[in-house]
Amino acid sequence: MKFPYAYSLIPFSAFILLFSSCTQNSDAQANHNIPEQPVQQQPSQPATPALANQDTADAPAPELKPADAATILARKQVPLLCYHQVRDWKPSDSKVAKDYIVPVARFKEQIKMLADSGYHTILPDQLYDYLTTGKPLPEKPVMITFDDTNLDQFTVAAPELEKYGFKGMFFIMTVSLGRPRYMSKDQVKALSDAGHGIGSHTWDHHNVKKYEGKDWEKQLDKPAKQLESITGKPVTYFAYPFGLWNEAALPHLEQRNIKMAFQLAAKQHQEKPLYTVRRIIASGYWSANSLRQSMVNSF
Ligand SMILES: [Zn+2]
Repeated sequence: MKFPYAYSLIPFSAFILLFSSCTQNSDAQANHNIPEQPVQQQPSQPATPALANQDTADAPAPELKPADAATILARKQVPLLCYHQVRDWKPSDSKVAKDYIVPVARFKEQIKMLADSGYHTILPDQLYDYLTTGKPLPEKPVMITFDDTNLDQFTVAAPELEKYGFKGMFFIMTVSLGRPRYMSKDQVKALSDAGHGIGSHTWDHHNVKKYEGKDWEKQLDKPAKQLESITGKPVTYFAYPFGLWNEAALPHLEQRNIKMAFQLAAKQHQEKPLYTVRRIIASGYWSANSLRQSMVNSF
């Protein structure tokens, strides 16, 4: 089977009804517990390639030709974490949902572990430059992403990141803006103003694999425009609802202003790796140590 997303079809169908708490359920179903792809190893490609042609004060930087897909795939992957809700578990939370709900103390422990272990958070622009030009990243890079616009990402998670000088990447589902338990437009703007990244996670979380006709405008163009008007910055990064994508979706993203799109842990598309960047769910069940181990094993 050429396309790895086929993995996700079976479990996903069971969760299609649970739109409003989509990712508690379906992101998990989509790609969690799938045997990880082996980490791409490329002996000739150091983790952070040195750039010979950078930072010479008087010579203008030469135009860098963007790397081809094989080069991008051969680079050492940066660990990318995906969070949803950061709150304590309730008796009504299902076993599966708890993968997507990280209790507050556990979240703090996970983030502290990253800081204590010397990790540095990066944002998508840095990842893009690294992947396409080999521009070096800080030592021990990690990207911390949040999907679905949950309010606790603003009230609990962002302040915790800021304690350590960390930045997060927030993928916003615009239909939820201003609803109870979700962030408001002002809160999204405040995150952006504080230097966190804002990306698109569609209008209402419908599965990208089913879009046709005007769906692209509704789910991609309008949300991006709205987020741009809120933050005053271009929106060039996208996270697939449920982590799901297919071949047909990729040209639609390319035609728009999207530079990279983020899935979950399935295998990357071999010709368009920038549109299938991998992330792992940082589970609510994981101690700081489990998280560290998973980061090493999955990327
Ligand atoms: Zn989502």
